[in-house]
Amino acid sequence: MLLRQHGLAVTAQRLAVLRAVSDRAHSTADDIDRAVRAEIGAISRQAVYDALSVLTDKGLLRRIQPARSPARYENRVGDNHHHLICRTCGRMVDVDCAIGITPCLTAADDAGYEIDEAEVIYWGRCPECVAATSASSGNGKRTGSVRHEPGDTALDPEQPGSRAQRHLRKAGREEKNQRV
Ligand SMILES: [Zn+2]
Ligand SMILES: [Zn+2]
Repeated sequence: MLLRQHGLAVTAQRLAVLRAVSDRAHSTADDIDRAVRAEIGAISRQAVYDALSVLTDKGLLRRIQPARSPARYENRVGDNHHHLICRTCGRMVDVDCAIGITPCLTAADDAGYEIDEAEVIYWGRCPECVAATSASSGNGKRTGSVRHEPGDTALDPEQPGSRAQRHLRKAGREEKNQRV
């Protein structure tokens, strides 16, 4: 139904891609390709990539493009939420807009633009990677043993959210600069 609402033909490929993304938010195209292939078998890599791009263009999926990382996909669209990414293990989780109703859309200086979206990525280290480092203090490199599921979107209440928020504007600007 979602596909028809957006004027798209319903195909087994598109359904499988949508399902794969909703099962594992923030996956890369490669992850989704593997999942879809495991589910419906006979599908080319190109077909999966085509479906991802059509679904993203039509607004059913959202593509997030972190600096120095492959694009990730999710089906939570249209709510202007942001992301936290661990620099060590790459795990990405959702984080709601900073405070109130999309305050980050109110730019300090909008330069006359009509703003409809703010893309913010908070970079840092996830609780598991922080714990792994402090547990093996003196050997900070042994953090690679921690594995997270890419689809894990649970927000840890212990996230240092307040600290990240204070750097909201600065971080957003830095990411924008890096992407250009
Ligand atoms: Zn981590
Ligand atoms: Zn998200």
